[in-house]
Amino acid sequence: MKKVVILGGGVGGTIVANLLAKKLRPEEAEITVVDKTGKHVYQPGFVYVAFEHKKPEKLVRDERRLLRKRVKLVLGEAVKIDAEGKQVHLADGTVLDYDRLVVALGARLTPDELPGYKEAAHHFYSLEGSMELRKSLEAFQGGKIVVTVASVPYKCPPAPSEAACQLDYYFTKRGIRDKVDIHFLSPLSRVFPLEPVNPVVEQVFAKHHIRSTIFFNAESVDPEKRIVNSIEGESIPYDLLIMVPPHRGAKVVEESGLGDRGGWLPTDKFTLRTKAHADIFALGDCTDVPVSKSGAAAHFQAKVIAESIVADLRGEPATARYDGHVMCYCDAGYHKGISMSFDYEHPPVPPPLGLKDWMGKRFLNRVYWMLVPAGRV
Ligand SMILES: Cc1cc2nc3c(=O)[nH]c(=O)nc-3n(C[C@H](O)[C@H](O)[C@H](O)COP(=O)(O)OP(=O)(O)OC[C@H]3O[C@@H](n4cnc5c(N)ncnc54)[C@H](O)[C@@H]3O)c2cc1C
Repeated sequence: MKKVVILGGGVGGTIVANLLAKKLRPEEAEITVVDKTGKHVYQPGFVYVAFEHKKPEKLVRDERRLLRKRVKLVLGEAVKIDAEGKQVHLADGTVLDYDRLVVALGARLTPDELPGYKEAAHHFYSLEGSMELRKSLEAFQGGKIVVTVASVPYKCPPAPSEAACQLDYYFTKRGIRDKVDIHFLSPLSRVFPLEPVNPVVEQVFAKHHIRSTIFFNAESVDPEKRIVNSIEGESIPYDLLIMVPPHRGAKVVEESGLGDRGGWLPTDKFTLRTKAHADIFALGDCTDVPVSKSGAAAHFQAKVIAESIVADLRGEPATARYDGHVMCYCDAGYHKGISMSFDYEHPPVPPPLGLKDWMGKRFLNRVYWMLVPAGRV
């Protein structure tokens, strides 16, 4: 029997496993997911843990309960991918053979990469980070908050500007907005990563007195002086620093010699086969595919990979292609949101800001568990 091994039980890996279990007969393939925690985490909810008192436990589910019964779940950390021998090695010594491998290991937060980061910065890119930020915001009575990113790429590119909007809304609700100066620093030539949407976000920032500085690529943080310095030579003071941590690709990819300089896995942007090995697929945050690192991208990519593996195992031509589709919602506070949908050929159309997309985001947050990991949508 053929063996399909999927590394990572996050958004992408779980959908691939469930779709394969639906499409392939049990005698056609054994499907195994390897995950180091066995917990599936809904990361878009981190923002609400920091800014809205969302309970952290609401964002975590047992991976076993999200997988179809016939999918085997192995709890363990993948430490080596032997692409020539078609084997994966786990930290406890287990070795898994595969006919097709799917790498869905997400991105790795690497706070050590920016001098001063660990001592000074807060973030909302992990459950623990979001809880710490929540406490610091509660204690904050006024002063200057800087919101920025340590480096690019990072997952969910709109999240930092969403956080700036959430901060404004948070302090407005607390009645001390006039005591808080919010300063957003962007590494790009504009505030928002997607150019067609930038004017909408700039308007929101102007209306809510969120200051911005562009071309600010962080070089270091001075925790004593409370200053963040840029490669461009600027130094910006802060009382509270909210900074998306540096990101790299998965450690096992790097250590197996399969990653690029950032540790990202070189992957064909249409077929989602890795460039060096046609029997290894990759999706989501761990790849170098030129789209936003997002759950939405992982979701759409998972369908292409599942179709291609079914075709491969049945000896049929694999014709499925990923078109670069990403769809996302941003919560701008005040019950207003925007949505964006785009692909390789079609940039997003500037969306109106309103209640409908705010509700869209809230709805997705609720129905995620029912619909997305199972691959129902
Ligand atoms: C604050 C925030 C807000 C976001 N908002 C949105 C949003 O609104 N919309 C959106 O589409 N996306 C959003 N995202 C991004 C989205 O969560 C990620 O892009 C998505 O989870 C990526 O899916 P993935 O399958 O590639 O990786 P992940 O979901 O991160 O899963 C990776 C899995 O691999 C496992 N793993 C890692 N290393 C190993 C190893 N060596 N061995 C075994 N297992 C391992 C991990 O335990 C994890 O379960 C947001 C992210 C953040 C942080």
